[in-house]
This record gives sequence, structure tokens and C-alpha cells, in this order.
Amino acid sequence: MVDVATTQLEIIECDYLVGCDGGNSIVRRKLGIRYRGDPHQEQAWAGGLTASTFLHAPDFYRKAIRGRPLCWQYMVSNPRVRANFVALDGKGLFLFSTRLIAEDHEKEKEVIDRRLRMCVGAEADFEYLGHFSWTAGQGLVADSYGSGRVVMAGDAVHLFTPQGGFGMNTGIDDAANLAWKLAALVQGWGGKNLLNSYSEERQPVAIRNTRAAQQMARRIGAEPVADEIESTTLKGEQARRKAAEFYMKFTETYGSIGIQLGARYDSSSIIVHDGLAPPDNHDQYIPTSSPGGRAPHIWLAKNQSLFDRFGRGFTLLCLTDNEGKATEFQNLAKDRGVPLDTLSVHSDDARQLYEADFTLIRPDQHVAWRGNIFPPDVDCLVSTVTGHH
Ligand SMILES: Cc1cc2nc3c(=O)[nH]c(=O)nc-3n(C[C@H](O)[C@H](O)[C@H](O)COP(=O)(O)OP(=O)(O)OC[C@H]3O[C@@H](n4cnc5c(N)ncnc54)[C@H](O)[C@@H]3O)c2cc1C
Repeated sequence: MVDVATTQLEIIECDYLVGCDGGNSIVRRKLGIRYRGDPHQEQAWAGGLTASTFLHAPDFYRKAIRGRPLCWQYMVSNPRVRANFVALDGKGLFLFSTRLIAEDHEKEKEVIDRRLRMCVGAEADFEYLGHFSWTAGQGLVADSYGSGRVVMAGDAVHLFTPQGGFGMNTGIDDAANLAWKLAALVQGWGGKNLLNSYSEERQPVAIRNTRAAQQMARRIGAEPVADEIESTTLKGEQARRKAAEFYMKFTETYGSIGIQLGARYDSSSIIVHDGLAPPDNHDQYIPTSSPGGRAPHIWLAKNQSLFDRFGRGFTLLCLTDNEGKATEFQNLAKDRGVPLDTLSVHSDDARQLYEADFTLIRPDQHVAWRGNIFPPDVDCLVSTVTGHH
């Protein structure tokens, strides 16, 4: 590694390397791994070169909003410009995004300035605080998440279009999935299949999530803008109402709970599946303890979530009085050094939700196994969920 400031060469040796170095990941390129998927479709909005500008524009409220309700996001849609303002502090700081075409590149700032004034509909003072351009509408996933002891997470392995807000969230979930596996390997209780399982579990989720975001981008970008939208006539009024209805109903961008909470690891080799996974529905989340999905939440008392009581390692959730059935499993986990907390909960609601006396929850809060009795070969269960098979 060369320190650019001093040109001093420093060599760091490590057992594992995780490339979290973004869309231009050096780690990915060094490994010869490529993104695959749909690059993007050129559209008037949400597809192609887009500029995002951080600006201070307190005038925006006075000149463009003029006493109308304050919002977090403002969409501007007319035949000349489509743009989006995201309010950052409610006082005048915004992230302003607008499409650019290749010819705009040379004079980006001027173009943005002009677009901004078109959006506000009046002269207004703006202070540019920062600016970057990026490509909207992409849905790309790396064809591999690593090689040997080198793996990657976040944008280094998936590039999203922002619709839905899944990019960073998917990266954070990569980290949650990977962190306990690396800890298990470093601490010596994890098996060699753990690193394989990272890509096995996370790559399908990235493909699913990037596709969902891309579908949203195509739908919002394809929405036609009526020529008369700015006219003061009845036709203009109707066009504005229609556009407003479209944006108000475009709730999947903000209400895609199935994407956010419903990601499952149904083809994972370190999960003991029971074939009862719910259908994958992007705008609906069905809480279930079917192995592979996120452990479902339930309130145990006022302000006390079941999640607050999970351990840092694995948690064996016992929803029965007959906890003795778990002894062999607990002892075996202890002998193997697997961090395991036993959580006994006496709640009919929780038992009904989880549909099993015992549920084994991983450190990343996904369910690894469930059942009313332990399998005859408990050793095999421990080996499977810790990646030794
Ligand atoms: C306009 C826009 C809106 C978005 N909105 C949302 C949203 O609402 N919700 C959401 O979940 N996501 C959103 N995203 C996506 C989100 O920003 C990214 O998915 C996220 O930032 C990726 O994080 P990362 O850490 O993987 O990569 P990055 O944020 O790119 O971080 C990588 C880091 O690695 C550093 N780096 C690279 N190479 C080296 C090197 N050789 N040595 C040292 N450091 C290096 C870089 O400098 C950088 O700091 C949005 C993206 C855009 C463009």
C-alpha cells in the first residue's frame, strides 16, 4: 500500500480482506470480477447522466412554495425539466437532482443554474455547496462477491438506482451478514463454508433489490408529462392533478417494506429450510420464522421488543416450558465455542407468531432453524449453521 502523501510504502498483512471501496472498487477490478445486469435506459428522468447538487437556497420556500405545505421531497415535472428537491434541514439546504445530457457536461454548472431557475419559476439566489454527477437507472451486480479470503460488500458488488432507497441499505445488510461470519472464522468456531455462504446468500438479494429499484426508475421515468401542464386553463389544471396523483400513488418508492424486511436466504447451504417460505412480495412483508428470513418482531412489553433480548451471537428462542429438550444442543454449541444465548419467552402471541417451540436465530437476526423437537443428529445441525458442512 502506498501512502499518497508521503509515498511511503506500507505493507499490511491480514487473514481476510473486505473491499468496501465503492462502485470503482480497486479490489473488484484486481480480482477481475465484473458487474453484470442492466446498465440503464436513457429516460427524461431516472435514467442516464444525472447531476446532484448540494445547495443553500432559502429563497426556494418563499419563491417556489409560497405558503403551501412544506414537504421532504419536491418533484418538478414539465416538458422542459424534470427534477427533484430533497429538503435536508427544512430551512434552505437541499439536494437538487436533474438529468444532464452528454453535451451539458462541459457547462454543467450553467445548465444546473438554468434548470434550477426553471423549477423555481423566478429569479432566486442559490449558493452551490457541492456537486457530483452519476448515472441513474443502473441495476448491476458483481458476478462474484470475492475470491478465497478476499470478499467485497456494498457498492463494490452492487450498483443501484436511488429509487426505493435500497443501495446503502443493501450494503449495510451485506455487512451484517458478513461480520459474524468473519468473527466466527477469526475466533475459530466457523467452518470453511461460511465465506461461500456470504455470496450464496447476499448475491441473490442484490439481484432482487437492484431489479426492484430499476423497475421503479423505469416506471417513474416513463410517466408522460402533458404539454399543457403549466397552462392556466382547465386542461392545465387537470394535467397537474393527474401528475400529482401519479406521484402521490408512487408509494412503492417509500413503502417497499417487502424489499426492506422480506429478503430471504432460501438457497443458503447453512440454513435448515422447511419449505414454508412466504411468496416474495415487494410491497408486503409477511412476518414468519420460516428459516432463511428475518426473525419476526413482537413487542414483549411496552417499549420492549423481542429483538432487544437477542444475544450477540446465536440466540435459541424457547417458546415452550419444555426447555430441557434443548440441553444436548446447548452443550454441543458450548463445546464447539459457538456463542449461544438461550432466550425463554412465555407468550402465547410469540408462540403463535413463531409457530415452533424452538427457533435458532443467527447473529444477523435471520432464522437458521426451527422445530418442536431437535433433529436426532444435533451435531449435524450445529455443523450446518456454523458452515462446517
Ligand atoms: C443521489 C443518490 C441517492 C441515494 N439515496 C439512497 C437512499 O436513499 N438510500 C440508500 O440506501 N442508498 C442511497 N444511495 C446509494 C448509497 O449512497 C450507496 O449505496 C452507498 O453510499 C454505498 O456505500 P459504500 O460504502 O458501499 O460505497 P461508497 O459510499 O462509495 O464508499 C466507498 C468509500 O471507499 C473509498 N475508497 C475507494 N477506493 C479506495 C482506496 N483505494 N483506498 C481507500 N479508500 C477508498 C471511497 O473514497 C469511499 O469513501 C443513493 C445514491 C445516490 C447517488
